[in-house]
Amino acid sequence: MNLNLDEESIRSIVRDVLGKMNGSAAAAPRARSENGIFPDGATAAAAAREGYAQLCKGGIAARREVVDIVKSMTVSNAKQWGAFEYEETKIGRLEDKIGKLEIVKLVPGVEWIAPDAYSGDNGIMLEEYAPYGVIGAITPVTHSIPTIAGNIINMVAAGNAVVFNPHPGGVKSAVMAISAFNAEIERRLGIRNLICCVGNPTLESFDAICKSGDVAVMCITGGPGVVKAAMKSGKKSICAGPGNPPVIVDETADPRKAASDIIAGGAFDNNLLCIGEKEIFVTERAASNFMRELENCGAERLSPSALDRLTGEVFESKNGGYALRRALVGKDPQVLARAAGANVSAKAKMLFAETDAEHPFVVEEQMMPMVPVVVVKNFEEAVAAAAKAERNYRHSAIIHSLDVTRMTEMARVLNTTLFVKNGPSTAGLGLGGEGYLSYSIATATGEGISNPKTFTRRRRCVMVGNLNIF
Ligand code: NAD
Repeated sequence: MNLNLDEESIRSIVRDVLGKMNGSAAAAPRARSENGIFPDGATAAAAAREGYAQLCKGGIAARREVVDIVKSMTVSNAKQWGAFEYEETKIGRLEDKIGKLEIVKLVPGVEWIAPDAYSGDNGIMLEEYAPYGVIGAITPVTHSIPTIAGNIINMVAAGNAVVFNPHPGGVKSAVMAISAFNAEIERRLGIRNLICCVGNPTLESFDAICKSGDVAVMCITGGPGVVKAAMKSGKKSICAGPGNPPVIVDETADPRKAASDIIAGGAFDNNLLCIGEKEIFVTERAASNFMRELENCGAERLSPSALDRLTGEVFESKNGGYALRRALVGKDPQVLARAAGANVSAKAKMLFAETDAEHPFVVEEQMMPMVPVVVVKNFEEAVAAAAKAERNYRHSAIIHSLDVTRMTEMARVLNTTLFVKNGPSTAGLGLGGEGYLSYSIATATGEGISNPKTFTRRRRCVMVGNLNIF
């Protein structure tokens, strides 16, 4: 999808959205308690508890209607909200910000909450997927509104209310979307504060939500710091944590398809997706054809000296390892190239450079469209290096190969939550591959690609006796 919106069109969309909101939360997300926006974590959680009670009264029909409201509003506002989030966060690509909102309709809803039943000589048994109550949700700056919309659909379909502590870098977008959802939910269903949000999110408001007796479960979508903090909180946490997805390309793969798939996934939203291709291991026999195809398909190569300069801009040494400086995260390839002292064409979709397997661009989750390529002797070396780069996050991995034994070997060794064979990483979320969409992939705690059932408790109901069913 290419909308070709220039800078002035984006600004005009943002002005339009702000105008319509009449200087409300989007312009300055101050603490306020209307349309679900609250000054602190404890009050927001308590209000969500009341929202939950109202949803329970509305039954399954109310859940369906909320899901419908969130899907249809997200899709119909995709252009405006995508532009707004792009303007606020200044990371990623505008057309992909919009695209991520347009596909929110693919997130599964109430249809996933069918009970399991057994019947037999001893009676009947029903196992239901019951709600937890209020879920505390933490969202990343990389996809503020998409994660919020996707979480609401899953969580409300399962019968829950939500209280969000969004990333401060995307809070205006979060407040705008959540206020709009709540206004429409109240207008159509009379339910208030089903979706609550802290207007000025801080570590303290995160802590208050974790400690609140009104919150049953936390759902974390973010990097290692917040996952660690949630795990220590003592509250059950469903953690969609960081990734650093490796790609293996071997000599049996079609080099052109591998190159074009890797660019499609790794360049999407300037590689902000946690599932995006972050480093490539290519076997010696495949390397030169593959790198030629990368260039043919729209990636441009950085020289060793340009790579050194960019590495100095992107990483700093910390505790014997590297820390990522955020300034270049999610920026266009042309911006990265300028920082590297290099020139690339305005059409370049991605940069690549040859590195060794220990390079910071390989071992750190860089979240930018500069993907390192490591040439390895053979497939065995590729798997060992890919496993090391993945860092046991158990997140995502990709292989381009026609050798099924190798696919199985990589799947076994890396044991990731998502494993894509012969496609772009985005195929793993149902975009050009089979399956459903979610922006929260529960890697660290193992629930997998989240769906409504992720946010339920199983409860069993049994009636004893031969009920003469057969
Ligand atoms: P981040 O970790 O900087 O922030 C995520 C959220 O956690 C924000 O709301 C932030 O305010 C909060 N936070 C950060 N440190 C915290 C702490 N110590 N205590 C309490 N709250 C804290 O991440 P980001 O830059 O916004 O997003 C990118 C990261 O998220 C990447 O690591 C990416 O892989 C990961 N991510 C994972 C998934 C997934 O589904 N697994 C999806 C999107 C992003």
